[in-house]
Amino acid sequence: EAKTSGRARYEVYAGELDQAVQQRRALEHELRHALNASEGLELVYQPIFEARSGALLGCEALVRWNHPTKGRMPPDAFISLAEERGLINQLGLWVLRRAAEYVRASEVPWVAVNVSPVQFQNQDFAASVLNVLDEVGLSPRRLELEITEGLLLQNSEHVQQTLRHLRASGIRVALDDFGTGYSSISYLRTYGVDKLKIDKSFVSQLGRDDEIDGIVKSIIDLARAMRMKVTAEGVETQEQRVMLENLGCGELQGYLLSRPLTPERLIGLCIPQALGKKVG
Ligand code: C2E
Ligand code: MG
Ligand code: MG
Ligand code: MG
Repeated sequence: EAKTSGRARYEVYAGELDQAVQQRRALEHELRHALNASEGLELVYQPIFEARSGALLGCEALVRWNHPTKGRMPPDAFISLAEERGLINQLGLWVLRRAAEYVRASEVPWVAVNVSPVQFQNQDFAASVLNVLDEVGLSPRRLELEITEGLLLQNSEHVQQTLRHLRASGIRVALDDFGTGYSSISYLRTYGVDKLKIDKSFVSQLGRDDEIDGIVKSIIDLARAMRMKVTAEGVETQEQRVMLENLGCGELQGYLLSRPLTPERLIGLCIPQALGKKVG
């Protein structure tokens, strides 16, 4: 009897598993189509501000997918699929090109683009990035690439060379979600990184937990000691903003200052900036 019920349960699981596999396959097919037709994918841009002056410094490009039936999908719902199904190189280059074209034609000084560690497995990654910038006519100094700590942990000669090549061309490298991974000071020194982005899970606890306050202060001090810039992400309250400013955090990003914006709305923000007024 136990055997029968076990078997029945197994069949139910198998059925559900089957369905999940089917759905993922359909999603993959739709994403492939969206990429090939350049249809339904878009970028929003979240401004990044100088803490002291409130001036607009640059922006981060964040991808969105307007799925034909599911509606607007956040990147967490399809980036890992793209990574698993061999679509991330194409998606990453689409994002880079679109962001580069946008910032070249705008007053925004620079754009930051998120890069998946899987993209680094491509031997030609650095060359393809530089090729896109060349085709678009954007100076490498106007591009920042956001990588994650996991990439540095791979401790690979190829990753090291790729980062060195990109930085030698003038592109800056930022370490995203800093503090959530396992990177060490020695990794930071080996690889060379231009900026640390303090993960929003720390920023959201600022002022509520002495230990977190101390960690954030240490990250800011570490960045200063290693001549890196530092951005706090996920700044949502005035209290967080004031604390970060007092700790000497140079750059702020978060809903308090601005949500991610459509390209048109970000251009709107640049107009008062160009006239010398304060934004944010
Ligand atoms: P991320 O690079 O750490 O980007 C910051 C995320 O935090 C964004 O979520 C942004 O909308 C959100 N955020 C900004 N300010 C606040 C705030 O004040 N409070 C809170 N709670 N959230 C805030 P989003 O757009 O959903 O992106 C999620 C992640 O997806 C990104 O995290 C990034 O890792 C990845 N991603 C986004 N675009 C791309 C892309 O083009 N390529 C790759 N490989 N990954 C991307
Ligand atoms: Mg990012
Ligand atoms: Mg982040
Ligand atoms: Mg992230």
